[in-house]
Amino acid sequence: MSLDGTYDPDNIFAKILRGEAPCARVFEDDHVLSFMDVFPQTKGHTLVIPKHSTARNLLEEDPQILSPLILGVQRVARAVRAALEPDGVVITQFNGAVAGQTVFHPHFHILPRWEGVAVGRHAAGGMADLNELKDLAGKISAKIA
Ligand code: AMP
Repeated sequence: MSLDGTYDPDNIFAKILRGEAPCARVFEDDHVLSFMDVFPQTKGHTLVIPKHSTARNLLEEDPQILSPLILGVQRVARAVRAALEPDGVVITQFNGAVAGQTVFHPHFHILPRWEGVAVGRHAAGGMADLNELKDLAGKISAKIA
């Protein structure tokens, strides 16, 4: 999928938002939902998505949705840091398939990093165990301020 196109209401994140697909939930408020990435590139790889979006990427997003989204990203990233004590935190997002985007609902990745620990390849690792992800989600959730 290129940068152009129409929003698919059956993308996996839209299904998670409607409760039609499971997730290891970390946090939610009126504007954002945060959950663990099922193909984690590092331990604690967390996603933050807007709840009320019909944009496919950041470039299309309404500024009124973007503002609480980035605040949610900061809030969850702080909780990831507090829960897992990484040496660094990567925050990233991709726009268009060529850029690496695989789910066409806006989202930010939060990847805790540790000195000397390699990061897995984007969208190419193995699927994590949902119970393990729920355990991690609980630890991060407990640190949401
Ligand atoms: P992107 O490639 O930037 O669009 O990111 C999409 C991310 O969603 C990837 O890192 C996938 O591992 C992740 N992902 C795909 N399906 C699910 C799912 N059902 N639950 C949680 N994360 C998912």
